[in-house]
Amino acid sequence: MTETSYTMQQLAGILNPVNFVPKTQSRINQLLIDSRKVMDPEHALFFAVKAQRDGHEFIADAYAAGVRKFVISDSEWQNKFPEASFLVVSDVITALQQIAAAHRSVFKIPVIGITGSNGKTIVKEWLAQLLNADYKIVRSPKSFNSQIGVPLSVWQMNSGHTLGIFEAGISRTGEMAKLAGVLQPTIGILTNLGEAHAEGFSGKPEKLSEKLRLFDHTDLFIYSPDYTSGLPAKSLPGSTKFSWSFSQPADLQITGMRQEQAGTTLDALYQGTSFSVYLPFKDRASLENGVICWSVLLALGYEPAVVKSKLSELVPVNMRLSLKNGINQCSIIDDSYSADTSSLAIALDFLKLQKQHDKKTVILSDLHETGRTDTELYAEIAAMLSQKEISRLVGIGPHIKSVAELFDLETVFFDSTADFISAFPQLHFSQETILVKGARKFGFEQISKLLTQKVHDTIMEIDLNAIAHNLRYYQTQLSPGVKLMAMVKAFSYGSGSFEIANLLQYHQVDYLTVAYADEGIALRKSGITLPIMVMSPEPSAFEAMLKYKLEPELYSFEILNAFISFLPQEQKDYPVHLKVDTGMRRLGFEEPDLPVLLKVLKDTGKLKVISAFSHLAGSEDELHEEFTLGQIGRFKAFAFVLRNELGYDFIRHICNTSAITRYPDAQFEMVRLGIGLYGFDSGKPDTSDLQVVAKLKTTVTQVKRIAPGETVGYGRRGILPQGGQIATVKIGYADGYRRSFGNGIGMMLVNGKPARTIGAIAMDMCMLDVTGIDVHTDDEVIVFNEELTIVDLAAQIGTIPYEILTNISQRVKRIYFYE
Ligand SMILES: *Cc1c(COP(=O)(O)O)cnc(C)c1O
Repeated sequence: MTETSYTMQQLAGILNPVNFVPKTQSRINQLLIDSRKVMDPEHALFFAVKAQRDGHEFIADAYAAGVRKFVISDSEWQNKFPEASFLVVSDVITALQQIAAAHRSVFKIPVIGITGSNGKTIVKEWLAQLLNADYKIVRSPKSFNSQIGVPLSVWQMNSGHTLGIFEAGISRTGEMAKLAGVLQPTIGILTNLGEAHAEGFSGKPEKLSEKLRLFDHTDLFIYSPDYTSGLPAKSLPGSTKFSWSFSQPADLQITGMRQEQAGTTLDALYQGTSFSVYLPFKDRASLENGVICWSVLLALGYEPAVVKSKLSELVPVNMRLSLKNGINQCSIIDDSYSADTSSLAIALDFLKLQKQHDKKTVILSDLHETGRTDTELYAEIAAMLSQKEISRLVGIGPHIKSVAELFDLETVFFDSTADFISAFPQLHFSQETILVKGARKFGFEQISKLLTQKVHDTIMEIDLNAIAHNLRYYQTQLSPGVKLMAMVKAFSYGSGSFEIANLLQYHQVDYLTVAYADEGIALRKSGITLPIMVMSPEPSAFEAMLKYKLEPELYSFEILNAFISFLPQEQKDYPVHLKVDTGMRRLGFEEPDLPVLLKVLKDTGKLKVISAFSHLAGSEDELHEEFTLGQIGRFKAFAFVLRNELGYDFIRHICNTSAITRYPDAQFEMVRLGIGLYGFDSGKPDTSDLQVVAKLKTTVTQVKRIAPGETVGYGRRGILPQGGQIATVKIGYADGYRRSFGNGIGMMLVNGKPARTIGAIAMDMCMLDVTGIDVHTDDEVIVFNEELTIVDLAAQIGTIPYEILTNISQRVKRIYFYE
């Protein structure tokens, strides 16, 4: 990869650093932002970016992983690591962009830049599918489109490429000019303009002209006049333009649409001639993205007939990887997104954060990367596998097999997927985490199927990125230095066990809390090393708690004394947490208990109070503000006495989710984040800062016509006076869909349309009134998602989101998605 490697001296020439002392001659080929993502430390350059956390704090971690080259803005750090080379600059992100811009300028190839509010990633991926046969393409990984993502994308360019396709997204004025300097696009595509990120701009025209800055120097601009109506035509960029529209005259004008079984036929007018094109999609967004790709191909000079045949073969883009339970207690990570090293790196990072099994296996097909020999490519992959401590590689395909000697771990190779499948019984997959990643033509879906448990058709999908997003949101709401305890009791509010805890551990929360010791033991057995508090420590579990280093919440003299007597004589300073009752009237010590409590604590050397805490009874509701402030005051007073008398410091905490934003002055040294992680906060009038985490889906088992006068289900309560159509779906009260949703109280979405329940909810199934809706067996039914929310469901049966979530039974399979 000689083209993408530079020495520190060369980069110093680009950056004009404030300070630079060269200490190494080794070249750089990885630009690193996150110290957890080191792949090839000798050739990595770490950028200490100041974002929510200050990247300088992670220099030590990167150094420990072997990195010796850094770009920083706080110069004092260079003195702490005398063996490393530092480029000291005034702004680290600007330096990253300058390096990427210089690298971009080396290549004289067409570069397509894509921006717009939605559809950027899909259009980019589809263009790559459509143009792959004719160009050697380099493109943004996943949706890397930010001030950092764009430079990292451009950094992948090498002399073998003949076309670049990159996306760019911005959230405020001034950012696009910087991305334009990095990307230097020759062809510009504006996808559309919606409301996303509107808050960073004064209004639509401002937003549009800001986005168009990306294309100031492009030769060709592809757009729809529907989205540029705020601007005079002559102010549009591009020496050549190509327009498309569903509603007005344009170079490519859509004149008609016909939905068919699996897709849509579009009629269009192009250069005075009518054409029809079939797209294998039905939803409006996909059709619009398809028309954009159609326009790009025409603008690039493809014959309409060629375009037509290419478009009919588009396949949906799936960028997420999924984590599921597999056979023999394996965890399976399925990644069918593109087969290249940048997406392999992302998947390996996700594999590495899974701690539930020591053994980690990668099943990998031949990859192909433009401009690189097999030896170069697989040597890099071999280094990545060993850096990420992978135990075993199963390589499938003639290319990976031919370079078997490059891999320094347990390996087994097959020529084809079919050969692997015949050998499957001898491979004995058991108690390991397995990443399945293959190029499309290898058909690895067959392998995933073999490895995955048969999935019952009701599935809860958990979006791990949404949990990480919600965590980051609350982290930004904390005063400096305040710690965060994540509540993962009750199977993480129904969302999962180690799957969630692994993510929280990776994102460096300070504490985890479970309700019972066995939940904590399960986390320890899955490799969770964070401190864990147990809220209901039963004496029968004391022994196990010691063994697994679980810390009890002590809320009464009975439990306090029982724990002290249980601890061995020689025990010193076992970490415990004191619960104080300030008004919930549930559990906890009270003010009058203080003298005795202090005496017990001082008389025993066995315990160390790590934290004291209390729980608010109505933090979400303004109605209870006075009471809440009273609770906070009582807690503060209690902790004050405790601190003075104990003679040492401990962590104080009282805020649950709603209190974090409603009572920021009460954050003390730590907060306890529960339901907010899962996307709900009843204390916030506007929850647009949070993302929906869970989606519950089921399927239709049978569709029936009902005559007037017939009754549906147990107890014969369901009646359609005019007759109609019902669908039986695979979810019942044993799955957690409560009986109280029956008889028209509950509602689901069938093919996107609302359908009410009819008749009683049965144990394993229920019926929906789908009169007037086009429904077939096996169609997908949404029980809840971001549109039909858990808050809506809770309102239907007069409960709260907590209960809906935690009721979903364990027999409903959870699948975890990560991007
Ligand atoms: C469950 C729980 C929380 C979390 O409450 P949320 O409202 O879900 O944030 C905090 N503290 C204690 C003691 C809890 O039991």
